[in-house]
Order: sequence, then C-alpha cells, then structure tokens
Amino acid sequence: MRRLQCACGSQVFFESQHCVACGMRLGFDPASLAMQALTDQGEGIYRADNGGEYRRCDNDIRWDVCNWLRPAASTHPLCFGCQFNRTIPDLSLPDNIQRWRILEQGKKRLFYTLLSLKVPLVDGWRDPANGLLLDFIEDGRSREEYAETFVSTGFLGGVITINTLEADEIARISVREEMNESYRTVLGHLRHESGHYYWARLHADDKMRAEFTALFGDDSLDYQAALNRHYREGPALDWRNNYISAYASVHPTEDWAETWGHYLHIHDALETAAAYQITRQDISTLTINARIGLWRTLSIALNELNRSVGRGDAYPFVINSRVESKLCFVDGVIRRLQTLH
Ligand SMILES: [Zn+2]
Ligand SMILES: [Zn+2]
Ligand SMILES: [Zn+2]
Repeated sequence: MRRLQCACGSQVFFESQHCVACGMRLGFDPASLAMQALTDQGEGIYRADNGGEYRRCDNDIRWDVCNWLRPAASTHPLCFGCQFNRTIPDLSLPDNIQRWRILEQGKKRLFYTLLSLKVPLVDGWRDPANGLLLDFIEDGRSREEYAETFVSTGFLGGVITINTLEADEIARISVREEMNESYRTVLGHLRHESGHYYWARLHADDKMRAEFTALFGDDSLDYQAALNRHYREGPALDWRNNYISAYASVHPTEDWAETWGHYLHIHDALETAAAYQITRQDISTLTINARIGLWRTLSIALNELNRSVGRGDAYPFVINSRVESKLCFVDGVIRRLQTLH
C-alpha cells in the first residue's frame, strides 16, 4: 500500500473516513488510487483537494461500510468497488453491519492491489462473460434462521462467495484451529479466491497450460476426492518441500490460488515497505526473483517485529525454490492479464 495523506499533510490509513489531525472528511478515489480530503458543497457533492468533484458511495451514506468515492457525474449510487456485490449480508440481523464493514475493507484492499497491478477488473453486471461478482452469505453455523445450510468460501462461475462468518474473529479462529491452518484472514481468502477468478479469466493457451501442469500438476484430477482426502488424512508430511501452505497441497487448482494469493501479499507488503522507506530499493525495477529475495529478508524482520511486541508471526511461511518458481509463473500470468481488457 502506498502512503496516504490528508490535505493537511497528516498520514491517514486506507480505511480512514476522517483525518484525526484536522477533522476533514476523507474518501478514497479508485480512479486516481489516492485519498482525497473533501469539502461539502451541498446536495451530496464534495470538492476534493485535487479540484475534482465527487459523491460518497451509498453504502457509506446508509451503512457506513465504505469510504470510496464516485465521480459527481456518476449515475450509479455505489462506488466502483461496491458495484461488484451481488449479495450483501442480511442487515436485519445483529452484528452484520460490522461483519460487512470488515468484508468491504478486505475487498477494497484486494481491489486496490488489482488496480495497481493493472489487471482487468470489471463487475459481472457490466460484463457477464468475463466480469466478477461477490456474494457475502451466511449459513446454519452462525444463524438459526439458516439452519441446515452450509456455505463454504469459494469461487464458481465468476462469483466469489465468502461466508460472512469469516468476518467474525472468534468464529474464524475456531475454524482456523479446526482446519489446522496457521493463517486465516478475510484478505487472505479474498486474494486466494481472486486467483481462481483470474486463472479462468486468462483463458490460458496451450503453452501456458503446459507450464502450469509442470509446476502445479494436472488440474483435471478429481477435485472433490482430493479435498475429501485432505480433510480425512491431512496433508503429506513433506508438504513444506513443495508448497507455500498445507492447503496448497490439496489440488493443483488450490496450489495455484494459494500461490497467487501470496503473490498479492508480497506485492502489497513490498509496496508498503518502499512507501515507508523500510527498503530503499525501487521495487518497480526489480525482477520477480529479486523481489522474492527482498521479501524473504523483510518478512523475517516483520516476524521479529511482531514477536517483539508479543504477537505471533505476521508471515508464517517459507518460500523455497519450488514455491519461487511458482511465484515466477504467477508474475508471467499477471503480465499476460495486463494485456487483456
Ligand atoms: Zn487532515
Ligand atoms: Zn462503496
Ligand atoms: Zn480455492
């Protein structure tokens, strides 16, 4: 993430709605990928410090779950990011606004990274063949109202489904323990699922498919059987030799999505490190291998910093040479995606 500032010069967060120093209202403009300090002009119009005129997203005005702006001339009530929602949590139920807010923040971080990588990002309403939509849904584990239903987080036919319960810290941690995962976050889920979307979106040619198979394995293997085996027997003892996570060892498709998710984590974290001058290197000029090398060093420092304040490791993963080859393949796919529109 780049370093964001209010017009007064104070540093603000990507999720900020007001500047704590000067009190100005803030909004993020996805077109310029910049935070804007806003002056109310009346009738829903705000003038930004860049001279532009904007409106707030309806999901901000009505529910306080979004801080993205839309152009003043836009006829759609929602910001660019909120237009990707197909199903939002049932707001008549308690806690759901707070959960939705957490899901929106994760989605906006994902979108920020995708927009800064300049890969195609269009909603499925505008482009039903290639676009993306999101369902935030709950099931019987969280609500009596939905007893007997089970929603798993996943991707199918252009739609990312996230179980709303993932935004509930206690529930997410208990699932994490049950599934024996060291790392489970809303942003991690969203980044992973976006990997499934972009692999489908790419329509890989034969050469790219052959490269995929050489690195990740044959993705035509029976998926459900592989998943059942994983939950019954657990991962192979030596999974660390070949995969970024235990879950990646389930099936080539999951290995791809896990690796893609890590590519986005690394991209975002290196951008942050450069923005805060934790590294003096110009990330944009580094090869993918150099970026991975830099991230190995930085992630150890990040883990030590976390341990210094009594927290667990922020990045509990090891990138060995096999995982590095897979990340290089993701880098090639990103460059291919940048040519699609
Ligand atoms: Zn300010
Ligand atoms: Zn919005
Ligand atoms: Zn997956």
